[in-house]
Amino acid sequence: MHKAFKYRIYPNKAQQALLEATFGCCRFVYNKTLDIRKTAYETDKTRLSKFDLIKKVTSLKDEFEWLKDVPATCLQQVVDNMDKAYQNFFKSGKGYPKFKTKHRSRKSCCFSGQRSDVLQDISCLKLSKIGLVKYKKDRAFVGILRHIVITQENDGKYYASCVVETGVEAPKPQPVEASTTVGIDLGLKDFIITSDGHKIPNPRFYATVDRRIARLQKHESREQKGSKRRARIRLKINKLYVKKRNLIKNFIYHVAKTLLRESQTLVMEDLNIVGMVKNHKLAKSIQNICWGELRRVLEYKSKWLGHNLIFIDRWAPSTKTCSHCGFHNSTLTLSDRSWVCPGCGTHHDRDINAAINIKRMGLETLLPAVSGFDGRGEVGCNFDEASICTV
Ligand SMILES: [Zn+2]
Repeated sequence: MHKAFKYRIYPNKAQQALLEATFGCCRFVYNKTLDIRKTAYETDKTRLSKFDLIKKVTSLKDEFEWLKDVPATCLQQVVDNMDKAYQNFFKSGKGYPKFKTKHRSRKSCCFSGQRSDVLQDISCLKLSKIGLVKYKKDRAFVGILRHIVITQENDGKYYASCVVETGVEAPKPQPVEASTTVGIDLGLKDFIITSDGHKIPNPRFYATVDRRIARLQKHESREQKGSKRRARIRLKINKLYVKKRNLIKNFIYHVAKTLLRESQTLVMEDLNIVGMVKNHKLAKSIQNICWGELRRVLEYKSKWLGHNLIFIDRWAPSTKTCSHCGFHNSTLTLSDRSWVCPGCGTHHDRDINAAINIKRMGLETLLPAVSGFDGRGEVGCNFDEASICTV
C-alpha cells in the first residue's frame, strides 16, 4: 500500500536557489513537451508517446544548456506527469492539460526514490544535486521510498511529500451490515446530513479570511505594479490563501474521521465534481470543493481502514421518495424543509429523509434480498434499521 508523509523542509539559501531553478526548469520542460506534442498532432496527426518525449528532453538539454544544472530525474518525472494529465484528458474527459504559468501557481518538482533518500536518523532528505536538506520530523515511517515531491507554497514555505510503499496489505473490507451503515446526503443548507439524523453545518470560518483577502486585494490594486510594497501585500494575500486551504482541509479531515469512526459502511451520491466546481456562486463553489475533497479523503481512508464506501447514482430520487412507504412526492419544492407523506402520514425532515433513502439504495445495490421500506405504517417512525434485513 502506498502512503504519503508530508514534512516541512528547511533548505538553505543555496538550496533554495537550486530548487527555484529546478521548479523553473520543470515548468519549462512541461510546457515545452506539451507544446511539442500538441504541434505534432496538429500538423500531421502524429501521436507522440511518452518515450518519444523523454528522448526530446535530451535534445532540449543540448539546446538549453541550463537544463543540465538541475536534477535529471526531476525532468523525467515532469514528462511523466504531463503524460498522465494528457492520458486523463482522453480517459476521463478532464480538461486538456494547461500550460503552467510562472505566477501564482504552487511550484513543485519530483525526485525519484532511487536517487534520493530520507535519512530519518538525522532528519535530513538526500536529494540529487541539492544535497542534504533538513526536515521537521514529526513522525517516522517504515517502507521503501518511491518518490519525493518538493513543493513551495504561495507563502514561501517548502514541503516534502514522501511517497512510501509500506509493504502492508490493505485490510480486507468488512461485510456490509445495515446496522453499521450510514447514508450521507449532501445538503443545501447544511454541508452533510447523515441517515441517523446528524447534521454538519457548512463551514463558515473562512468568511473572515475571505474578508481580509478582499481588503488586501483592494490595497494591492492601489499600489504601483512591480513595487516592493505591492509584492509585500501579495505575499500577505498568499499566506491567507494557504491559511484558508488549511482550514478547509482540517474541517474535511475532521468530518471524514468522525464518519469513519462511527460507521463501517458509508453510502453517498456520486458527484460530478468537475461540473459542479464551475458554479460561479462563491459559497456554493466552496461547498463543492469541500465535497470533492471529502470524497477524495473518504476514498483513500476507507481503503486503509477496510471500510466500505458505496456510491449511488446522483440522479436517484432520494429527496422526493418517502423513506417509510416509498410514496413519490412529486410536489415537493426546493423550499420545503419538511413535509408530511400523503401515503403514510410520516413527518419528514427533507434532508434526513434523503439520507435514509441514500442508505437504503446503497444497501439495495449490495444486498439484493433487502426490502427497502419498512412499510409497517407506524406514523412518525423513520427507517427502522433492524427491519432492513428481516423484512
Ligand atoms: Zn410515506
